Amino acid sequence: MNFDFLEECREAGRIGIAGHVRPDGDCVGSCLGLWQYLSKCLPQAQVKVFLDKPADIFKEIRGFGEICSDFPEEPPFDVFFALDTNPERLGGAEKYFKAADKTINIDHHISNTGGGSINVIKPRTGSTCEVLYDLMDPKRLDRDIAKALYVGMIHDTGVFQYSNTTPETLQKAAQLIGYGFDFPKLILETFYQKTYVQAQVMGRALMESIRFLGGSCIVSSIDLKTMDFYNVEPKDLEGIVNQLRNIQGIDCAIFMYETGVLEYRVSMRSSEKVNVAQVAAYFGGGGHARAAGCNMTGTFHDCVNNLSLHIEKELKKWEAEHDERNHNH
Ligand code: AMP
Ligand code: MN
Ligand code: MN
Repeated sequence: MNFDFLEECREAGRIGIAGHVRPDGDCVGSCLGLWQYLSKCLPQAQVKVFLDKPADIFKEIRGFGEICSDFPEEPPFDVFFALDTNPERLGGAEKYFKAADKTINIDHHISNTGGGSINVIKPRTGSTCEVLYDLMDPKRLDRDIAKALYVGMIHDTGVFQYSNTTPETLQKAAQLIGYGFDFPKLILETFYQKTYVQAQVMGRALMESIRFLGGSCIVSSIDLKTMDFYNVEPKDLEGIVNQLRNIQGIDCAIFMYETGVLEYRVSMRSSEKVNVAQVAAYFGGGGHARAAGCNMTGTFHDCVNNLSLHIEKELKKWEAEHDERNHNH
């Protein structure tokens, strides 16, 4: 435990917590885990949590109903936490962060250079929930806090299958399930289960996908008209990019959905051959080496062509490095 955030909040009357726009499982889990922990350990303080409305699959996490998604005017907070992101991606909650007396940024994104008065950024840790677990006193955890942190761990590690899973991740997850929540149900309902229309849209995205760069990359996109036809929102599209990545021979999978006229939200997943954090950063986005995102403008083909140039660079770099190693052996 390298810093004691309860100590940092000791004098605080009003504490705020927020995570990134379009909150994912790690974002919701870390915000609600911290909200529960602070509410429990600092009963004299008022603790509020601000997030874009998360998907309903997370409604079983304690505190879900307390999430404030309309970002009203608020007096400055004594302490404000930004979780699972740099403060620039807090959306409607960025104004609270800017106005707060003390700001604490806890994250695991390699692209985060630290925007708080206190920063705990751990790029080698699989999820923000795992970072939070290290900062919490296990004696003060309970079943509902453990459940919230577990959600973040399973979402950001793909249920412990991605390379960001370490022996420590699994040891912490083992401690968490020891608190006795129904983890198989949680994994099924928040990670694997899809509604029928979500499955249909995913099927369509897979069917209409296109491979390029000699079959090593794959891209698919959904336009606003199609989203409208199926009556789906961006949060219903979660998981499509992972499915594309699971296809044999693919080193980089791209899923895009239209957000406006000539505007796309881009998600990328990759093998060890492509650092997608680098590719996303080039277009003003960010993320991790194996999972990253950005926003782009232009036609679908413009976007793919621009991404393709940078992905090809990554592939060539990897090949050159591996050629060198082969020659040295
Ligand atoms: P996504 O494809 O939206 O699921 O994002 C993949 C990963 O990259 C997640 O960890 C995101 O939090 C992160 N990410 C996505 N977009 C950005 C961005 N603009 N800046 C920093 N990180 C991002
Ligand atoms: Mn996240
Ligand atoms: Mn995360």
